[in-house]
Amino acid sequence: MKKDILSLSLSDLQDEIVALGEQKFRARQIFDWLHVKRAVAFSEMSNLSEQLRQKLTKYFCIKRLNIQKKLVSEYDYTVKYLYGLDSDLSGDKIETVLMRYRQDGGRDFRHSICISTQAGCKMKCAFCASGAYGFTRNLEPSEMLLQLYETERDRRTDESEITDVGSLVLMGIGEPLDNFDNVVRFLNLLSDKNGRNMSLRHVSLSTCGLADKIDRLAELKLGLTLSVSLHAADDETRSRIMPVNNTFGIERIMSSCRNYFEKTGRRISFEYALIGGLNDSPKDADNLSNLIKPLGAHVNLIPINPSHTQAYPKSRNTNAFYERLASSGINVTVRRTLGADINAACGQLRAAVGSTP
Ligand code: SAH
Repeated sequence: MKKDILSLSLSDLQDEIVALGEQKFRARQIFDWLHVKRAVAFSEMSNLSEQLRQKLTKYFCIKRLNIQKKLVSEYDYTVKYLYGLDSDLSGDKIETVLMRYRQDGGRDFRHSICISTQAGCKMKCAFCASGAYGFTRNLEPSEMLLQLYETERDRRTDESEITDVGSLVLMGIGEPLDNFDNVVRFLNLLSDKNGRNMSLRHVSLSTCGLADKIDRLAELKLGLTLSVSLHAADDETRSRIMPVNNTFGIERIMSSCRNYFEKTGRRISFEYALIGGLNDSPKDADNLSNLIKPLGAHVNLIPINPSHTQAYPKSRNTNAFYERLASSGINVTVRRTLGADINAACGQLRAAVGSTP
């Protein structure tokens, strides 16, 4: 089988090129063609000899994703892509969302991209559409990177202005820390100065709370923002909606979050999806406040998207919950709903289309 060249770091590529009997500096030229010039075929690499291009074609492949569906929100220009991972149309599908926003009331648009890390998910959070469809496989580093590259490519042909994607969140389908090694390799590729060169300061990783992996991530000191999907501040409620809580309970997660903050100096952000009658009472707000205050953490309140199951209705207490947290000194925001008309919440498009059409 041909090697997936877009998953190789520059130093891995150097080793491969030297092993093929070529000079090491060729690897940097190839890396530039792949990650800066975005070549999709070795034949485009005009500063390499014909013989080397043929050798590369024999041993390596340049993966692509294919756009199976693309929806553009009429409200806010959020663009949602359903990408096929393989060339044949019956293969696995993942979702990528491009969001456009104005920062601090400025005039220029900025773009943020939300990518998937697995085809499916094993975590089975009760309110989430992704888990309901089961788990197929981990994504390769190239398949995470390509969600950005293919989206940038598509926007370039779609619009006269080039879409500059300035930030990235690992918040699409899948649990990033359950695909730890590939995610770390992807982050290193994304931030490589010789490649896409995106600062990891502009990257957030969202996890359902795999505490042992949060500890491993802290050791790497990558400088990204960690978002923890908490959704409840007591174990009983959290275990009802997130089975992973039976493995890593709230105390264990909090201890890993403290460790992450101490080791990296980066404040944690907690996601809290408000569900009517389940986690939205004044007592819930006080529990949450007591839990995260010592961490100086930020809370992002998410209006639950009940399209997957009616059992988890929207809360009517969002404002009161927000006020109660804010008045106890917590740094809290309410997530804006982008692309509401195009099912932009994770897993929804894949769920609507089905895993095999
Ligand atoms: N597995 C990771 C990242 C993917 S989910 C995680 O759990 O964080 C991204 C975020 O969307 C998580 O906070 C998740 O709990 C939330 N989410 C999933 N389904 C949702 C729904 N129906 N409404 C609101 N938020 C949802």
